[in-house]
Amino acid sequence: GAKALGRGAWCFYDEAMTQAARERLTLEARLRRALAEGELRLYYQPQVDIASGRIVGAEALLRWQDPDEGLISPDRFIPVAESSGLIAPIGQWVLEEACRQAQQWLTAGLPALTMAVNVSPRQFLLGDLVAGVGQALSQSGFPANFLELEITESAMAERPEQALALLNRLGDLGLRLAVDDFGTGYSSLAHIKRFPIDVLKIDQGFVRDIPESADDMAICSAIIAMGHSMGFAVLAEGVETPAQLDFLRERGCDNYQGYLRSRPVPPDAFEALLRAQSV
Ligand code: C2E
Ligand code: MG
Ligand code: MG
Ligand code: MG
Repeated sequence: GAKALGRGAWCFYDEAMTQAARERLTLEARLRRALAEGELRLYYQPQVDIASGRIVGAEALLRWQDPDEGLISPDRFIPVAESSGLIAPIGQWVLEEACRQAQQWLTAGLPALTMAVNVSPRQFLLGDLVAGVGQALSQSGFPANFLELEITESAMAERPEQALALLNRLGDLGLRLAVDDFGTGYSSLAHIKRFPIDVLKIDQGFVRDIPESADDMAICSAIIAMGHSMGFAVLAEGVETPAQLDFLRERGCDNYQGYLRSRPVPPDAFEALLRAQSV
């Protein structure tokens, strides 16, 4: 909806305003319009079970289809959305669209998939995430236990007590919770232990240089072993080569995502991947 788009939309032009601030404002205004005009898209990347090779989930990844510039990547506009407050309505749109799409695939008879949705730190800590998730689930009819929220370590570490309470409420809805970019943040293992987490996602930075980097292989092995001993599933991000996949399989990693299997793709292409494996 167009309501609650947040404050800060308008600002008088000021000679002193830096070039960067002007560009940011332009981007913010354009992003606000993109949301209203329906220029945001979700792409989906398969999450693959390493043992069977089957697609067991999808991560929804946001894209902005700008009429002039073409496809704009989230690294360029999520920070602007975060600092302007636009992340709340954008994040809600992502939740609703991902659940709608996943439920549509379910009712089309495709195998049930986990749908993983990224939640930004600010959306996590400030927004009414529980109500937003509840709304996305009820209006789509998508089952809560197939929805997974990806939250970064930093969002959890910033205000651990608030995060714990929120994660417990989300867990009570029946959702799954994943720690995104695991290993790059500053969460303490003591916090991780108390959180109702289901999945650790090993950051792609630790996967990229396998098998050349002995250190990265040691880190991945340690995360897999620790995650399993704490009862979490472990997913590796950014898998691009067969050698990386072989290493992860040998270490007992559960799932992976990466260009080796597929880049993030538009919904119809993702559906084709699913149909190809269900025959
Ligand atoms: P992320 O959640 O860690 O997503 C993984 C990123 O790695 C994606 O970039 C994906 O396209 C990319 N990737 C996947 N496989 C490979 C691979 O094999 N090699 C390499 N080099 N990269 C790979 P993308 O789609 O550009 O998204 C970047 C980040 O933007 C995401 O990182 C996430 O933090 C954020 N983001 C994306 N969509 C959303 C969203 O709906 N909401 C929020 N809050 N953040 C989002
Ligand atoms: Mg993610
Ligand atoms: Mg989870
Ligand atoms: Mg990640």
